[in-house]
Amino acid sequence: MSDLFDKIVSLCKRRGFIFQSSEIYGGLSAAYDYGPLGVELKRNVQEEWWQEMVYRHDNIEGVDASILMHPKTWEASGHVEAFNDPMIDDKTSGHRYRADDLIEHHIARLRNKGKAEDAARVQGRLVEALHAEDMPRALYEIIMDEEIRGPDSGAFDWTEVRQFNLMFETYVGPIQDEDNKIYLRPETAQGIFVNFHNVQQTGRQKVPFGIAQIGKAFRNEIVARQFIFRMREFEQMEMQYFVRPGEQLEEFDRWREKRMQWHKSLGVRPGKLRWHEHEKLSHYADAAQDIQYEFPIGWQEVEGIHSRTDYDLSRHQEYSGKKMSYFEHATRERYVPYVVETSVGLDRTILMLLSDAYREEEVGGDERVVMKFHPKVAPIKAAVFPLVKKEGMPEIARDIEQDLRRHFNAMYDESGSIGKRYRRMDEAGTPYCITVDGDTLDDGTVTVRDRDTLEQVRIPKENVARFVEDKMRDWQPIE
Ligand code: ATP
Repeated sequence: MSDLFDKIVSLCKRRGFIFQSSEIYGGLSAAYDYGPLGVELKRNVQEEWWQEMVYRHDNIEGVDASILMHPKTWEASGHVEAFNDPMIDDKTSGHRYRADDLIEHHIARLRNKGKAEDAARVQGRLVEALHAEDMPRALYEIIMDEEIRGPDSGAFDWTEVRQFNLMFETYVGPIQDEDNKIYLRPETAQGIFVNFHNVQQTGRQKVPFGIAQIGKAFRNEIVARQFIFRMREFEQMEMQYFVRPGEQLEEFDRWREKRMQWHKSLGVRPGKLRWHEHEKLSHYADAAQDIQYEFPIGWQEVEGIHSRTDYDLSRHQEYSGKKMSYFEHATRERYVPYVVETSVGLDRTILMLLSDAYREEEVGGDERVVMKFHPKVAPIKAAVFPLVKKEGMPEIARDIEQDLRRHFNAMYDESGSIGKRYRRMDEAGTPYCITVDGDTLDDGTVTVRDRDTLEQVRIPKENVARFVEDKMRDWQPIE
């Protein structure tokens, strides 16, 4: 893993953004807990997404469906049969890998070594293998022919490639048999599809309209060693947009634009975002593209935009025996709507924001680590410090803090030197620090220090909330 990635992981733990789950027992792999700063960041991102998708579109409604669903849902969706990843074991190290990932890393290595032709040849074989009827065999043959070695052991000592279903299973009720087997949902989308009619009718919506949801999803991932990039329990923010058949590609392009714009609106540096076209379209999709971010571990998917045709609603119609079609009054036509989906990982968005915000800078000969979050997602918007713990300064600072808390998340800190307190707030990504000092006692003004420019201005203490709100609204991203 990269140096920068390690630094971000360690800052997350040190400052209370993210902890390993059940750490006192040695942790549970690929499960994480959000700490006091992390949960604020996460809530802010959820809020941004919800506002953008639900509040700014009068034809998008929200839902919050349950995680446990009727098991037939997952037969209809195709997950029971085909939600598999091809896995392979290194017999020397005992480590398990995704076979397609191993090949992709091999291709990247060839490219880095300047062997572009070889890289293109293997890439061609990978695309073919992913479409092959016997995909595991085809992937296995590439690994054999290319003599790809175990990344951890360096050995060439592989098992066959096998398919591995990623759904977690459990049972409802006290009897643990096949009849009572259910799954933890591997995506939030199906909770939307099965509620298509409920929402359309109660929301009095006409096609085109959308349904949005934020919620947990569970996948028993084979490889899960990249912090919150790939977790076994994670959160998705998904929106399914139902359209007339034939209009899906136009809507697909429209949603692509909107979604890319949203990522930029979070302050993410545009040069770190790009489009990635799928190598292999799912059999039901007629277009699919991912938004990728350049993480410290390389370019990786943050969000997928998929045109899913009428696959999902048709399958639910078939498996439930209930009509999933829509009657369009204007044209007097009945049809099963097509769907354009936008699906973004909340945790991956958090990792993107952490990666994008992290900077090391020199200030007055000292190094500082600063998280340059967009103020609207920053966990704490402002911190208030008394210069010293006497002469009435703490009381004034507390009053200001109380006032700020009515507007946004603010905190009070009186311990350590002012320099230390600034550093703490820099690491938390707090955009504004307010100091009460001797002059405050004389003329009622305080200093406001800007996290990014380090500029300090003096303003009357009564104006702090409005000043900070104005600054946050006008904030511009920094390269
Ligand atoms: P990948 O190829 O990385 O496994 P995917 O194509 O299976 O992802 P989707 O099924 O399209 O992902 O899910 C939509 C989004 O959910 C992804 O873009 C990602 O942000 C998020 N996501 C998927 N799996 C995980 C995971 N295991 N941990 C965290 N986020 C995830």
